[in-house]
Amino acid sequence: MFDYHMHSKYSIDGYEEIDILCKESIKKGLKEIAITDHYDLYQDQNREDNVDFKSLYKDILEARKKYKDKLKIKYGVEIGQSHFNSTLANNLIATQPFDFIIGSVHNLNDNFDVGLCNYNKISIEDIYSDYVNTLIEMAKTSDFDSMGHITYPVRYAFAQTKKYPDWTPFKDQIECLYKELIKQDKGIEINCSGCSKVLQRTMPDLDLVMFYKECGGKILTVGCDSHSKEYVGAGVNKALQIAKQAGFNEITTYTQRKPKFIKIY
Ligand SMILES: [Zn+2]
Ligand SMILES: [Zn+2]
Repeated sequence: MFDYHMHSKYSIDGYEEIDILCKESIKKGLKEIAITDHYDLYQDQNREDNVDFKSLYKDILEARKKYKDKLKIKYGVEIGQSHFNSTLANNLIATQPFDFIIGSVHNLNDNFDVGLCNYNKISIEDIYSDYVNTLIEMAKTSDFDSMGHITYPVRYAFAQTKKYPDWTPFKDQIECLYKELIKQDKGIEINCSGCSKVLQRTMPDLDLVMFYKECGGKILTVGCDSHSKEYVGAGVNKALQIAKQAGFNEITTYTQRKPKFIKIY
């Protein structure tokens, strides 16, 4: 039981103390977690998420000591749009002892926030091509281990329209993305945040996880993307089931950015 994507009070949209996240993880039977607070970068070169990484890491070290025999706690980060400001992204990576880095896209060009879009006016099909292109650009130029929630716009689109898109028209682009990630030994995440919400699916869902396997993908991480304690670990079982259905026998964990493959049953 692993959860490699969760946010604490150090994220702009998170609430929980590190200690609470650890207690909750143990309660839910998790064996290993990665705390992955947000660090988003924007095309406005002077903007960045202001995170107190020093206090965050101190809290993680304390939790590691306290829960030594019960829970493995990895120091992670979710970097959004690293390619919008590579200098800040690379500087952060060089100065923090991260175990694991998620590379995510939340904003497109001109800082267009995919989560704040009115999907009754703009369809997900209208923006998904741009979204995948942004993922490809980030994959080509940025340093991270696993790509977060590659179907992210659907989290918001489905909540508004209750329509789930057909990804078939995007398969060629998604194949380009997968090939780029595979070439660079980067993975993708099965993000379970939708499982306990209205979406009721993982991001990506089974079809695109299967397609990743067909393309030769090997590195798969699993994360619930919780911003409050009740969602810690929620949907992990579903994600593992999807990984197995797609033909994966292993998922990946990280220590000091080195992958380790763990058998799943
Ligand atoms: Zn995210
Ligand atoms: Zn997240």
